[in-house]
Amino acid sequence: IYPHHGADAESLIKAADLAMYDAKGRGRNNYRLSSRGANVAVDELFELEKSLRGAAERGEMAVHYQPQVDITSGRIVGMEALLRWQHPERGLVMPDQFIPLAEETGIIIPLGEWVLRQACQQNRRWQQHGLAPFRISVNVSGRQLLQQDFAEKVVAALDECELDAQWLKLELTETSVLQNAEEVLGLLRQLKSIGVDISIDDFGSGYAGLAYLKRYPIDTIKIDKSFIDGLVGNADNRAMAQAMIAMAQALGIGVVAEGVENTDQLTFLYEHQCLKAQGFYLARPMPAEAATSLLQARCH
Ligand code: C2E
Ligand code: MG
Ligand code: MG
Repeated sequence: IYPHHGADAESLIKAADLAMYDAKGRGRNNYRLSSRGANVAVDELFELEKSLRGAAERGEMAVHYQPQVDITSGRIVGMEALLRWQHPERGLVMPDQFIPLAEETGIIIPLGEWVLRQACQQNRRWQQHGLAPFRISVNVSGRQLLQQDFAEKVVAALDECELDAQWLKLELTETSVLQNAEEVLGLLRQLKSIGVDISIDDFGSGYAGLAYLKRYPIDTIKIDKSFIDGLVGNADNRAMAQAMIAMAQALGIGVVAEGVENTDQLTFLYEHQCLKAQGFYLARPMPAEAATSLLQARCH
């Protein structure tokens, strides 16, 4: 609101931008007024944006890997690529603190491509080490899906890294699949025809209906951590997790539990036939070298 939040267009837009981040941080679908004294925060946000540009090129970004485990055998059946930012002054910055900004500013487009290449290259390296091949999962932002040439970029990354498409899985959120539904449906079909696997991340946490599961070529759902958290203490969460597992199985879709932190959760999943899981209890995300040692130690 002029002149309360700024005397000129630039500062008004900055303030509005900051309020928007605040609203998104509170779970989206609501509004916030820019707070007084927000200027400090605005400057900080712009500072962060400046340092985020080119961070990968400056070698500040790293990809960590978290195993996905078959809980019956303990075998590592996949790895998820998770981005980490080693900021020169701030230290380690986690994705929740910069991915939204990267999406807003479009930086996610080159950054996402960089992650995709790193992950494909790493998976190829593991195969060259003679380890049993598995899929590498890469998170893809909605912003990336809206690019006309996203499928071509995926093909180019696979070619460049000499990785077969069957060893790549893309993780998308419900919201990003349902935005521009028709275009994204076309894109997903294209990706499937190339041989890439499609997974729905944070399943059950968005506002999506269920019909899209039949319509879209989806291979796997990842049950959101919030349901797994409540498995032990909360009967409703148990019922919902059980229903998600049953639904996925009935539809012939794979299911992975996210954020498994203890043995009780693991037992529940085992008893209800959700046999793939990811979580701190099984393994934390780790740098590539540590992931390589872990894979070698498990005699893959
Ligand atoms: P996500 O894709 O759902 O990834 C799972 C997140 O849960 C990761 O957080 C992981 O470290 C964390 N996690 C795994 N197991 C456990 C557990 O047992 N307990 C707890 N408390 N947490 C667990 P991280 O690495 O901080 O990433 C957060 C989110 O940032 C990701 O959620 C994903 O949405 C996004 N993200 C990360 N890397 C990328 C990327 O390269 N591109 C895009 N577009 N998004 C990314
Ligand atoms: Mg993910
Ligand atoms: Mg998730």
